[in-house]
Amino acid sequence: MSTELATGAPTFPIALRPNATPVSDDERAELLTNPGFGRVFTDNMVVAQFANGGWGDAELRAYGPVPLDPAAAAMHYAQEIFEGLKAYRQPDGGTALFRPERNAARFRHSARRLSMPEVPDELFLESIRALVEQDRAWVPEFAEGSLYIRPFMFANEPFLGVRPALSYIYAVIASPVGAYFPRGVKPVNLWLSTDRVRAVPGGTGDAKCGGNYAASLLAQSEAAEAGCEQVVFLDAVERRWVEELGGMNIFFLFDDGAAGRRLVTPPLTGSLLAGITRDSLLTLSADHGHLVEERPVSIEEWRSRAADGSLLEVFACGTAAVITPIGRVRGKDGEFVIADGEAGPVTTELRQSLLDIQYGKAPDKHNWMRAV
Ligand SMILES: *Cc1c(COP(=O)(O)O)cnc(C)c1O
Repeated sequence: MSTELATGAPTFPIALRPNATPVSDDERAELLTNPGFGRVFTDNMVVAQFANGGWGDAELRAYGPVPLDPAAAAMHYAQEIFEGLKAYRQPDGGTALFRPERNAARFRHSARRLSMPEVPDELFLESIRALVEQDRAWVPEFAEGSLYIRPFMFANEPFLGVRPALSYIYAVIASPVGAYFPRGVKPVNLWLSTDRVRAVPGGTGDAKCGGNYAASLLAQSEAAEAGCEQVVFLDAVERRWVEELGGMNIFFLFDDGAAGRRLVTPPLTGSLLAGITRDSLLTLSADHGHLVEERPVSIEEWRSRAADGSLLEVFACGTAAVITPIGRVRGKDGEFVIADGEAGPVTTELRQSLLDIQYGKAPDKHNWMRAV
């Protein structure tokens, strides 16, 4: 059973002014048959304004445009951060979130890095709870469907001077999403980006901000041109240490001979984003009896151990796609395959075990789920 998300009177009450003309049940059912990712949005959203040094009242209202002055600072100097989490349909028909407190803490961390005001955890969690409760009918019931929740914040002060803005909009929108792999889990090809980096030491790599994504898009287009679905980025200084994908962390399963098999993921150096899926898989892997280690992995080690067979599996992980097996890596110097290029047994087992917790089909022994 999952723990209730909120108890008692919220410190940040949300004024409920829901959409007076929500889509009909038939129309919603139609939209939910094949929602894809991030194309369909629910009837409502939550919006709160920061001004004069504090947060004003949050409001749940009809989903729709937010008026912006052309001089709004976010559009010039990119003070913008976001989060991503999901509500999952539970066997009893209810809904539950996965570790939302972690998203709240990371959102505050991102805010500090971008010189933005922190959203108090109570406001962050209550805004999500209120939106999921209001738009519960949008949480898909089909296998591996979920309601993707996108909290975000941006500077809306109309001012072109360069300094942290004085006013901000915090909002939460929600989008029903289908299974990431509607036709079964298929390994993806990675493009090894050696010319471009996503993040630099001392930069914003460990903040979830739109600017990091903007910086990764050109490499993503190069990946697509090379027939790859995703990019893997190396560290900016030596161009040698594997960091992460554009929006997912990465795990390796090595066979260390007499020392056993070991799941390895790169350490959080400050230029990687600390994924909540990554953190959960470190715990879950240990539960499953795997040895786990956070240590740097070089591209040479990756290539040579793929060649000598001591690299058994590689997968990427994040909220949107859960776990994505990686089949091969392609770069300017050619390509290499991981094992037989198919999804490996440990990848498949960890993926299923995480999904079973999220969908309430397995005991939640780490107390990760929050009923809404
Ligand atoms: C959001 C994100 C991840 C994955 O984080 P989760 O909390 O597991 O969803 C990984 N890398 C980047 C760059 C991200 O923005």
